[in-house]
Amino acid sequence: MNLNNYNKLSSKNIEDLKLLVGSENVLCNKEQLEKYGQDETEDLMYLPEVVVRPNTVESLSKILAYCNVNIIPVTARGAGTGLSGGALPIKGGVLLSMDRFNKILSIDTNNLQATVEPGVINYNFQEEVKKQGLFYPPDPASWGSCSLGGNIAHSSGGPKAVKYGTTRDYVLNLEVVLANGEVIWTGANTLKYSTGYNLTHLMIGSEGTLGIVTKIVFKLIPLPQQNLLMLVPFTNTELACKAVSEVFKAGIMPSAMEFMERDAINWSIKYAGEVTFTINPNWEALLLIEVDGNDLNMLMNECEKISEIMQNHKCDEILFADSAEQKNALWKIRRKVGEAVKSNSIYKEEDTVVPRAYLPQLLKGVKNIGKKYGFQSVCYGHAGDGNLHVNIIKGNLSDEKWDNDLPKGITEIFELCKSLGGTISGEHGIGLVQKNYMPIMFSKNHLNLFYQIKKVFDPNEILNPGKMLP
Ligand SMILES: Cc1cc2nc3c(=O)[nH]c(=O)nc-3n(C[C@H](O)[C@H](O)[C@H](O)COP(=O)(O)OP(=O)(O)OC[C@H]3O[C@@H](n4cnc5c(N)ncnc54)[C@H](O)[C@@H]3O)c2cc1C
Repeated sequence: MNLNNYNKLSSKNIEDLKLLVGSENVLCNKEQLEKYGQDETEDLMYLPEVVVRPNTVESLSKILAYCNVNIIPVTARGAGTGLSGGALPIKGGVLLSMDRFNKILSIDTNNLQATVEPGVINYNFQEEVKKQGLFYPPDPASWGSCSLGGNIAHSSGGPKAVKYGTTRDYVLNLEVVLANGEVIWTGANTLKYSTGYNLTHLMIGSEGTLGIVTKIVFKLIPLPQQNLLMLVPFTNTELACKAVSEVFKAGIMPSAMEFMERDAINWSIKYAGEVTFTINPNWEALLLIEVDGNDLNMLMNECEKISEIMQNHKCDEILFADSAEQKNALWKIRRKVGEAVKSNSIYKEEDTVVPRAYLPQLLKGVKNIGKKYGFQSVCYGHAGDGNLHVNIIKGNLSDEKWDNDLPKGITEIFELCKSLGGTISGEHGIGLVQKNYMPIMFSKNHLNLFYQIKKVFDPNEILNPGKMLP
């Protein structure tokens, strides 16, 4: 099907949708539509024709069945914090807001599981399970605003992924509404699953292109009781990157290992406002390292070993956070980097990832490619995962260079990732802005398998059309 063949919604379509979900949950005026026409990806804006806000599986199922018969595009939206344009309704049609699916349905302390709706905000969920002494580790830097449904759609990670894994590692079972309105559970609420094709894991990371998630059963783990946090400055960026893999080689598994270039941290401190922290002008990069567990002595030993490794890599004086306030301040600086970069300049963010020991080669390659094409980049990210967010800053670059040369530079960065055994997105997804780079990673045959999977689940191509596949 030619994706440009979607019909514009008629006033009858809008009236029909109002009957399905109630007129107060169908938004059509321009001001309302504008709010849903953008997410956190660059400065992109695509207006939906209508926003629909169901809050029951039954009404959502009817909406999808209706759109499927009438060939109306449906783009799901969680909280709109995505960085790959996944929630942008680029073909118009229905913007399906999941914000009213916002309940934590149960926390099962016998089985260490929770059942939630996808519109629940990540941080709120974490806080609720904490009250039961339990832990849900995936914690994107956007945890205060992103939804669990969006996290599923991208298999989001975060600082804790290095020790605890990404969203994918905590999903047991999903309730999904398919394109034709049929409702299925993808698996079982069990820790083991060896029962046919694993549709749960197919849905995770599918970016709203195969079905709409309406319930999630998560696995939980006991909450670690202690953590220690250290900030390690370096005057040499390459040595900072080299130090990362040495920690793991020494048999230590930190619960976070974050990397920030000096500009990233400088901008973040300015942006975060009330945080007072002085950056020595000689520092080129910082590692923020956390260890967690239940035995404080053991953690202190680990910190000592980590310090030794850092010193062997010529770090400057290490700062140990000695209070909860100081820990919060350091984490705030790290979590605000993304917003700070956005507020500084027009930029493009690439979510590169390689096996962690190749981080130094990746960073060096990114800088060399930047020199070749004349762009500045500010890099930060989840160093322990080998996941480097490369923020390419427009600065004084001409529009012509930005539009024509940058894609060539990005292609080279992605080819470098592939050559190092990595890939073009570790946690932000492909969405709209990375889809044309998919052939770097996948052969024609491989992409064809993707297209065929899409066709089986969504033969009329109504679900998030124009995303993920080139
Ligand atoms: C400052 C900042 C920091 C960030 N830090 C991190 C980080 O550390 N780690 C990380 O992984 N990401 C990070 N992100 C990216 C972003 O927050 C995540 O991708 C997040 O999971 C998106 O969730 P959302 O609810 O905002 O989803 P949206 O942006 O609304 O949607 C994202 C995708 O999910 C689909 N979707 C949403 N709900 C459903 C559903 N119920 N069923 C099917 N599909 C659905 C949408 O169609 C879209 O394709 C950051 C973003 C910002 C702005």
